[in-house]
Amino acid sequence: TDTVTLEVLDRWVRLSAARLTTEADRLTALDSAIGDADHGTNMLRGFTAIVAKLDATPPQTVPEFFKAVGMTLVSKVGGASGSLYGTLFLDMGKNAPAGASMSAAEWAHALSAGVAAVVARGHAQSGDKTMIDAFGPALEALDTALSSGRTLADAAAAAADAAEQGSADTEPLVARKGRASYLGERSVGHVDPGSASTALLLRAFADAAAE
Ligand code: ADP
Ligand code: MG
Ligand code: MG
Repeated sequence: TDTVTLEVLDRWVRLSAARLTTEADRLTALDSAIGDADHGTNMLRGFTAIVAKLDATPPQTVPEFFKAVGMTLVSKVGGASGSLYGTLFLDMGKNAPAGASMSAAEWAHALSAGVAAVVARGHAQSGDKTMIDAFGPALEALDTALSSGRTLADAAAAAADAAEQGSADTEPLVARKGRASYLGERSVGHVDPGSASTALLLRAFADAAAE
């Protein structure tokens, strides 16, 4: 199906939480090289709290779903990633249609608006060695795939591929935003942790959409 239902969204964040339980150590190791060694812990704490929140109060509409996810991230995750991923989801909620599902194009529109809000808040540009270096190529790949008539699952997989490549491509970059920027040239040679978590989230979405 080419519809992003509440069921797909629910599957997405639960799959993300499950993968974070095994990937948290890898994300934290990336953050220990150029940050403060908490990115995996931060993401796992946030997504564990999201699953608990969805269990306690299942959202009835897409905007409610994104709001619940965003508010949980803002309140449970300290640090840059909590406020930036929180902003992503809150702004996706503001830019998603009312109701219990959305089209692939509406999904792409909401994601793009969410990323624009992250940029407005964090002022990172492409090449600054942040999560934006995963989101930017992912949005481009998503748009290209959808406008050439590919299915939601195919387009989401292309977006995840692009995010993974974008994350890998942060390795030679000098960090210009966030904690890693304090290291200047010494940030070269390490993958940005936030770009890696963005790739994880977008891969989980692709897999949730393909089921
Ligand atoms: P903290 O740096 O506060 O400990 P985390 O370790 O959880 O927070 O998250 C760090 C990640 O946040 C970075 O790897 C980077 O991808 C992302 N990040 C930090 N600052 C910015 C920013 N201004 N814009 C976009 N992403 C950012
Ligand atoms: Mg950190
Ligand atoms: Mg921190």
